[in-house]
Amino acid sequence: MATGGSSSSSVPSGGAGSGSVSADLKARLLRPDPADCNNKDCFPVRVLVHVNEHRKAIVALHAIGDRQPDHVIVINIKADDEDVQTTYGIDVSAGSDEDYIQVMDEWYSAFRLDKTGVFYDSKENAVIYGVPRGHPGVDLPRYLTILPTPKKKQLENDPAAGSSSSAVGAAAQPPPGLVLLTPDQTTSTDKRRRFSFPDQRKRIKSMTKSDLEYYLHKTQKEAADIGLSIGTTALKSICRANSLPKWPYRKILKIDNEFDNSLKKKITQSSNLGRTVDGVTKAFEIRKKKEALYQQIMADIPEELQGIDGIVDELQDAYNAGLHIGTDDEEEEQDE
Ligand SMILES: [Zn+2]
Repeated sequence: MATGGSSSSSVPSGGAGSGSVSADLKARLLRPDPADCNNKDCFPVRVLVHVNEHRKAIVALHAIGDRQPDHVIVINIKADDEDVQTTYGIDVSAGSDEDYIQVMDEWYSAFRLDKTGVFYDSKENAVIYGVPRGHPGVDLPRYLTILPTPKKKQLENDPAAGSSSSAVGAAAQPPPGLVLLTPDQTTSTDKRRRFSFPDQRKRIKSMTKSDLEYYLHKTQKEAADIGLSIGTTALKSICRANSLPKWPYRKILKIDNEFDNSLKKKITQSSNLGRTVDGVTKAFEIRKKKEALYQQIMADIPEELQGIDGIVDELQDAYNAGLHIGTDDEEEEQDE
């Protein structure tokens, strides 16, 4: 990939003295103590780690002794190797509190706005995923986790069974100062259990490829019943007619579950900056894997959904024959 030249373009400039790439710095970065910079008395007050396709970026606000923030260390590492690309320090010792807050907030905003990456902020102890767990088209970043939170216990007890929406929901209370998240719209459930034929016909006829995509992370029954408000049988017919023989909910869940508690801990509770960076990098790999899965699934589905008229006809026949066409009487969904 010939991305080297522009690889740091999403990183705001604004620091003094840039450029020196040294083995010494690399060694420093990989040392266990994130406080390690030139000054022995330093310790990190806040660390931002951002990983995307082009590079890993680390921004650390350091304080000395009396906890007064003193300088910001900025490190860029190429994505494809461990070479430090650029590094520089920003002296914030002379300014007021607002100065270093502003410096950090600039980075925070730049990282957070990158919808292709994964971002960790030690201040919020939050990992922000560029791609939401469900619909890949939603363009706002979304929290994957915030640790620790009072509500966390409930989640921890049941890490595997937590559906994507519940995990997001538990983390959806952002700390002050953060942009509110778009709630997972698929959880605002339509509780209707039976759909009339005219309603279903209307919805099926207007269904698009992206409607399907939007609900892939739900079970097929949830997607039909709650999301699309059509019968599960009708949804299955639509899938069969459109190269989606197997509903991918479990595949997606499996990838989501790779972002497990041990990885979260590695990122958020590590006193070793190298481990935190590794963890965010791993989260980015998971994100890429998920994106690739979505792309693969969507590539098979025709742009214009096929067989819709036939499916509506079948539904009409079932309706005329007095069969139930809602979801209550349909068989339990098998997601295997
Ligand atoms: Zn320092």
